[in-house]
Amino acid sequence: MRWSDRLERLPSYAIHELAVSKRRLVAEGVDVIDVSAGDADFPPPHAAVEVLREAVADPAMSRYAFQVGLAEFRRAAARYVERRFGAAFDPATELIPLLGSKEGLAHLGLAVLNPGDVCIVPDPGYPAYIGGALLADAEPEFVPLVKAKGFLVELDELPPERLSLARLAYLNYPNNPTTAVAPLDYLARTVEVCRRHDIVLAYDNPYCEITYDGYRAPSIFEVEGARDVAIEFHSLSKTFSMTGWRLAWACGNPDLIGALNKAKTYVDTGVFLAVQQAGAAVLDQAEALAAPLVARLAERRDAAVAALQQVGLPVETPRATMYIWIPLPEGVSTAALAKEALESEGVLFMPGTAFGPGGEGYFRIALTVESDRLTEAVRRVARTLERMGAARA
Ligand code: PMP
Repeated sequence: MRWSDRLERLPSYAIHELAVSKRRLVAEGVDVIDVSAGDADFPPPHAAVEVLREAVADPAMSRYAFQVGLAEFRRAAARYVERRFGAAFDPATELIPLLGSKEGLAHLGLAVLNPGDVCIVPDPGYPAYIGGALLADAEPEFVPLVKAKGFLVELDELPPERLSLARLAYLNYPNNPTTAVAPLDYLARTVEVCRRHDIVLAYDNPYCEITYDGYRAPSIFEVEGARDVAIEFHSLSKTFSMTGWRLAWACGNPDLIGALNKAKTYVDTGVFLAVQQAGAAVLDQAEALAAPLVARLAERRDAAVAALQQVGLPVETPRATMYIWIPLPEGVSTAALAKEALESEGVLFMPGTAFGPGGEGYFRIALTVESDRLTEAVRRVARTLERMGAARA
């Protein structure tokens, strides 16, 4: 068989490979601690389950959703964005339901990019951005996220010849995997660069409710002029522990939403209407439903940070997201550590390089298990590090 050049250019997808290894270890009876994917062990909201249960029994819900989907979901999503961020979007023309934000992010590339166009991709970053660029035969321009710059992508610091070829930039704050947050003045100067260079700004915001200690994550639409260039992605996955339901939306000006709508029309036929109805039922209570979830994540975060510091892995306490991004001791390969920790200790986490070469020197754990299991996971990683250090010495 011969595959397309674009398929060959796609790097391997770490989290899918980890899922296969996990299944094998569990089958062998290993006590696996999985802190890899951002997929917490909390149940979805009771209201979502009840509404879904009823909706499934309604034959009208079993028909094709098409992109237009359920008016109720569009309206609930628009109400949420207006309530939270003060930005009003027409539910019919400025918002589109998605089968999870991942497909929307990746399909946006097909709507915006021509072969050879430059697409700005943070490194490390969520892998769907590379998919968006490469599946559209565009050129990813990887921008290293470095601690000294607060893990921010400063578009104006890119080589001018690359910036002038750029048509799309993916940005994500609160950030996965670095947990960095973006100040409003950063967002304002980024929008300004995108307007100047006619770059579509895909602002990926699935963690906007997962924030701690009084920090409040902004929307790109809190910046004046953002509507000219930006499309923002929101997801029910993390806020409502509904990762498997596949429900999200994008909002932005009618041209951008229309373009994404057109591309998707040829790929999918919309989100199961019953799932949209369940989503509509919980969006009005987003803040109240997120509060207890965030409180539990904060407890886990504190337990994990304390455990990491105790084993000599200095980390700062994240202000947002459900992750901890942990710098490794000098000279330890993150992929080697992840492999060794999995095989010898049964602990699964994300090697930094799963998010791009810029993730070397770090690994990511997700706050997806209870505090005692997180503490145990950290102990197992520390043991692995000790063994690897001894082997090197
Ligand atoms: N963006 C980022 C930064 C993510 O971390 C994730 C999920 N891990 C997504 C998008 C996709 O979420 P979903 O497709 O479940 O909405």
